[in-house]
Amino acid sequence: PQKRDTRRNMEASLTARDRVGIQDFVLLDAYTSESAFLDNLRKRFHENLIYTYVGTLLVSVNPYKDLDIYSKKQMDTYMGVNFFELPPHIYALADNVFRTMLSEFNNHFILISGESGAGKTEASKKILQFYAVSCPSTKLLNNVRDRLLLSNPVLEAFGNAKTLKNDNSSRFGKYMDIQFDHRGGAVGGHILSYLLEKSRVVHQNHGERNFHIFYQLVEGGEEDLLRWLGLERNCKNYRYLVQGDCAKVSSINDKSDWKTVQKALSVIDFSESDTEHLFGIIASVLHLGNLKFEADARGYATIKNNQETHWLLGIPNQVLQQGLTHRKIEAKTEEVLSPFSVEHAVYARDALAKAIYGRTFNWLVNKINESLVNQDSSRKMVVGLLDIYGFEVFSVNSFEQFCINYCNEKLQQLFIQLTLKSEQEEYELEGIEWEPVPYFNNKIICDLVEEKFRGIISLLDEECLRPGEATDLTFLEKMEEKIGGHPHFVTHKLADKNTRKTLERGDFRLLHYAGEVTYCVVGFLDKNNDLLYRSGKEVMQHSKNAIIKHCFPSSEPDNKKRPETVVTQFKNSLVGLTEILTSKEPWYVRCIKPNESKQPAKFDDVLVRHQVKYLGLMEHLRVRRAGFAYRRKYEIFLQRYKALCPDTWPNWKGTPAEGVRCLIKHLGYKTDEYKLGRTKIFIRHPRTLFATEDAFQVC
Ligand code: ADP
Ligand code: MG
Repeated sequence: PQKRDTRRNMEASLTARDRVGIQDFVLLDAYTSESAFLDNLRKRFHENLIYTYVGTLLVSVNPYKDLDIYSKKQMDTYMGVNFFELPPHIYALADNVFRTMLSEFNNHFILISGESGAGKTEASKKILQFYAVSCPSTKLLNNVRDRLLLSNPVLEAFGNAKTLKNDNSSRFGKYMDIQFDHRGGAVGGHILSYLLEKSRVVHQNHGERNFHIFYQLVEGGEEDLLRWLGLERNCKNYRYLVQGDCAKVSSINDKSDWKTVQKALSVIDFSESDTEHLFGIIASVLHLGNLKFEADARGYATIKNNQETHWLLGIPNQVLQQGLTHRKIEAKTEEVLSPFSVEHAVYARDALAKAIYGRTFNWLVNKINESLVNQDSSRKMVVGLLDIYGFEVFSVNSFEQFCINYCNEKLQQLFIQLTLKSEQEEYELEGIEWEPVPYFNNKIICDLVEEKFRGIISLLDEECLRPGEATDLTFLEKMEEKIGGHPHFVTHKLADKNTRKTLERGDFRLLHYAGEVTYCVVGFLDKNNDLLYRSGKEVMQHSKNAIIKHCFPSSEPDNKKRPETVVTQFKNSLVGLTEILTSKEPWYVRCIKPNESKQPAKFDDVLVRHQVKYLGLMEHLRVRRAGFAYRRKYEIFLQRYKALCPDTWPNWKGTPAEGVRCLIKHLGYKTDEYKLGRTKIFIRHPRTLFATEDAFQVC
């Protein structure tokens, strides 16, 4: 009867697996096939099991509905429990990172990737919340904890917007260090932000919005405040808010979000005058957007309706007006004011609005960082969280997508280096032989973009140095001339007959590791120059608004010394980021978007398959399995399976390594199925562990 029971249990566990899939892809039998991978993901998704492992990498599929898996109780369940002993969860990963950090006294980072709307920002928030609850607390630490948590709604208000892909899309890249003391208490933090999409301030595509904060202020701002700012409670009245024609979004409550942001600002040390100045700036951007220009008799721009902007910015009206309608030109011995045409004035106004907003955003990040500074200078450990824009492909792709996708190439390169590197190091450390796995190395694409003198970035910067002569099209021609033969680059002119049909004349196409993207070259030079006329800058230096004053210092190098172009600044910041990351141990969360319509319970096979491909999941799986699919510390392996052998149960007296040797002998492991390293057992095929796990389940 006992045997029958075992059998029945086994069958039960098999059907359960059939239904809920396998919680670690490394254990999947038909592991090389993308279809099997997809089947498993789909199966689990329909059971609301959105998390699955590939070894220690976590795959997460956006459920697009609230699941009851993030309660305090769930957090408690995952605290201090071995990674593989509970169903996969973002908390398990967070906990594992935390405990590894404490036991090894080193630094870690969690790279969260996936395309827009896949759930990256939500994942990073879940991790932060887990730490806030799980790490030891004191009154002082609680203070830091609250600030860490509340920095989020503030940054989201100023840096997120509704796009076609995501109602709360992060329009900047974010890297956040959480600093811990040796006991694991959160003692501080630091945030780095990357390339805010400033163009959104003055222009939104149909169905998209400007940054949330504008709508929050107009919808939620108190009567007094609005009156003081000269604003009306109607988003439709502001040109910068209506271009996407969707000021109201059903999933967003601007009014209550406004309250949240107010509260958050007060916790992170914003004084009353800080907030006054901050919202003065937000309002002044809205007023700027409403400025209209007229041509005078000579065709020069004059301002038609200046109302509030000047005093909100604390700048004499005269000075502001002149700054918006003229530019300064260096003549031989003196500076001359040259008047703008109306078109030019509009351009200068928008440039000013973007500059004001962009610099204020940076100020905000700095201000938050000041409030997160760790007062205790003793040695600390960090967990870094990287929530950065995913690969983006729209129907029309521009400079912004080029930067974002370049960033993804860099992160993929890092992933390749770190996974393979750490893998190889581990085998070496444990004294185990292995053979490297072939994989597509995207270095060739990184080089195409960033190589000195002949990379796309260099060519673009070169063109930006020839004002008046260069255009977007000369940039395109230059690329054709210099990198025309590159296997990952094609344009209309270079394409063969078939490809040509799908390319316009002003397009260039890059064969990214994640797929082809066609970029429209229009606007590249302009966006890369990000030209703010010197007169505009000088005007800002007159400001009495403390934030503006800080953001436009008079000592700033002026146009005589060329400021770095946008793409070069971005490239340098990515170099910095790579340095930060390579000094830490990597962990990965790969987020997947199940469908394009933001709907629950809908799993679009084609869409998911594509993401599985470019997130490098199959490659990662192969690397994981080429050497040894599984590795466990002797203690952990023994602890889990000791019940399977009478000699190791209930307590093994010798060393864990000896215990494991005894255990696997009893289980009948064949010698080619495993290797014993210095501190870990390595198991070649998952099915070996699988059988053991099954035996454990039924025992
Ligand atoms: P990303 O940062 O990758 O662009 P977000 O994290 O902003 O995407 O997620 C987009 C939306 O998807 C969220 O606003 C939320 O509605 C939903 N979502 C994401 N992750 C989860 C989750 N774990 N549970 C429930 N809903 C989620
Ligand atoms: Mg996001």
